[in-house]
Amino acid sequence: MRNRRRALLFGVLVLVIGVTGSLYLPFPKSKLDPGPVLSLRITDRNGVLLREVLSDEGGRCRWVGLGEVSPHLIRATLVSEDRNFFLHKGVNIPSVIRALLQNLRSGRIISGASTISQQVVRNLGRRPRTLLSKLFEAWLAVRLENTLSKEEILAQYLNRVPYGNLAQGAEAASRLYFDKPCSQLGPAEAAFLAGIPRSPSASNPYRDFPAALRRQKEILQAMARRGLITAEEYHRTAFEDIRVSPEADRFRAPHFCDLILGSLKGPQRYRLSEVRTTLDYGLQKKVEVLLSRHLDSLREKGITNGSVIVLDNDGGDVLALAGSCDFFDSRHDGQVNGALALRQPGSALKPFTYALALERGMTAASVIDDAPYAFPTLEGNYEPQNYDRKFHGPIRMRSALACSYNVPAVAVLEAIGPDLLYRRLKDLGFDSLRKSPGFYGLGLTLGNGEVSLLELAGAYAALARGGRFQTDRTVIRMTGENGKDVPIPGPERAVDVFSPGAAFIITNILSDGDARVPSFGYRSPFNLPFPCAAKTGTSKDYRDNWTIGYTPRQTVGVWVGNFDGKPMHDVSGITGCGPLFRDIMLLLNAKDPPPPFAEPRGLVRRSICPLSGRLARALCPGRMDEIFISGTEPREVCWTSHGAGAGPGLTTASISEAPSRPEPVLRIVFPREGGIFKIDPVLRKEYQMIGLKAERSGVDGPRTIEWWVNGRMAGTSASPSGLSWKLAPGSYTIKAASGTGVLRIESRPVRIIVIT
Ligand SMILES: [Zn+2]
Repeated sequence: MRNRRRALLFGVLVLVIGVTGSLYLPFPKSKLDPGPVLSLRITDRNGVLLREVLSDEGGRCRWVGLGEVSPHLIRATLVSEDRNFFLHKGVNIPSVIRALLQNLRSGRIISGASTISQQVVRNLGRRPRTLLSKLFEAWLAVRLENTLSKEEILAQYLNRVPYGNLAQGAEAASRLYFDKPCSQLGPAEAAFLAGIPRSPSASNPYRDFPAALRRQKEILQAMARRGLITAEEYHRTAFEDIRVSPEADRFRAPHFCDLILGSLKGPQRYRLSEVRTTLDYGLQKKVEVLLSRHLDSLREKGITNGSVIVLDNDGGDVLALAGSCDFFDSRHDGQVNGALALRQPGSALKPFTYALALERGMTAASVIDDAPYAFPTLEGNYEPQNYDRKFHGPIRMRSALACSYNVPAVAVLEAIGPDLLYRRLKDLGFDSLRKSPGFYGLGLTLGNGEVSLLELAGAYAALARGGRFQTDRTVIRMTGENGKDVPIPGPERAVDVFSPGAAFIITNILSDGDARVPSFGYRSPFNLPFPCAAKTGTSKDYRDNWTIGYTPRQTVGVWVGNFDGKPMHDVSGITGCGPLFRDIMLLLNAKDPPPPFAEPRGLVRRSICPLSGRLARALCPGRMDEIFISGTEPREVCWTSHGAGAGPGLTTASISEAPSRPEPVLRIVFPREGGIFKIDPVLRKEYQMIGLKAERSGVDGPRTIEWWVNGRMAGTSASPSGLSWKLAPGSYTIKAASGTGVLRIESRPVRIIVIT
């Protein structure tokens, strides 16, 4: 009996010593490590949070030291959760006894009465809410107290406790609800935040804001009662307006963020804690507002959506990207990213055709014939029409591009060859042109290949950069979970696609408000108070309307249309997205206008006749300055006898001087007026010949025909045979003549261009 009692006593003693001793077992420190960062933050270039992406663990978390937490939040948290935190040793005995009694009386767990230490332990491992597990947690909490200092425990709490809406820890919560680090929380915000962990779902600010506010007032009152804030401070704080960031703000620049996430490979995404992007969120917001406002006024034209891209020319940074008007508008496919969608660009590729032509000997003054013409192709004749359903006759390249006429663009491409344009477009980043050049053919310059707005903007930025293409940039810095920088993936490519001279002349034409007057009128939206190049495009059947343009600083691309491909009505570059383009350019540059486009070396200016494109003389109906790549400038004075009605500059002197020639009965049948010839790089130069042919009527018998090229005799041929003439790059005026004295007849001149 005595022995059994002694044994029992001994057993109890061992148990008590054991349990007491076990309280001094150190708490496993590995469990207290901050652990991997649980979320990836995507920010704009200034650090503004655009989106926070959760990892599989499901919780936003950002570890901060106690020094980075606002003292207001620490005080409010202690008042709310554990007023005796600095007095107890992990468990608050009186409150445990009180809670135990309450629980026993009601037969279920109703009172938590957990200290901050206990809550830390609970957040380290989920256990069922039973009495036994509560005792176990209490035991762990005491061990925690014996392992860490009070400050360390508080830091563990503030970093681990859930604040609702998947925000784990005070820093994540502060950024979620107030969009600022928790070091910057004021007393009112701190008390608001401190009230949430007690019951994150009941005090969810997005579900029951008044409940969260009531909890804040309770905490502020408790703080005032304990003298932590003065009565005056209480009144000031309690009536302070609390503004919680709208839920939609957690989803900023949605298409851009999706683009960033799509570029990160799966495992990499979870090893990153922050991606600082190139976006300028301040600008993005304004661009979104402008897009939405302009689309409101375009709805009556059957347009439901649009996209905008703003690129910084220097580094190719994407500064703004709006993929659609409203990401959440499922009725109009708002989640489709219009900046990446592939669509026909209409005339927007024409500048690249002409840039190529400039490099190959044509000039902005070259006269091209805008007339009905059937271009033979494998599928039969191709007969391009102009937008206005008219033909405008011989026209200088400057006007042909500025007015966006189709026939001249196709004629130039036919001479250059679609293969060459295709290769340059690939160099300009048009990866979407996946089919062979033969598939697109001459229609390539009229936009029959599908490309994206992002590709178009990138290619135009190359023109702004003087012909140098550079891949666009979306990411400035990537930070790994260890806080170290991670190399940014992705191929960076920079290549000189066009010569600076050709790029500059195209820029000069696209920013020439006078040149586009015949097509766009004097009140075009592209006439801005600073230098700005712009080009419009409208796809077949009016499905897509584009404007892409640039200043020396930024490139802006705008598309409007419908994601379901429904056509618009009454839409042109001016009535469609032109005004939106204009407003974005004004937004970017109105306060600080950009400098003029920098002119490269190797260009010359000449005063030319606007009709013939040759050096102007006194008799020409006017004169204008034109820019030439040195070596391609015209050397011949205008020969044209500008007849009556030739233009406003006609003087009596020129009429009297105009020779009263007989009606020509000699006619050049080949080449035709405005013809463009390309020298074949494969054939030897001596074989690069064309046959000049003329036809005489009203005169019998074979007669010798003289061939005059640019005012010099090139040779003679016996009619009806022709003269073989060797091609060399340049612009030529060809005339045929026959006979002498009063019997001499001359043909009308024919102008042609030879390019390399
Ligand atoms: Zn002239």
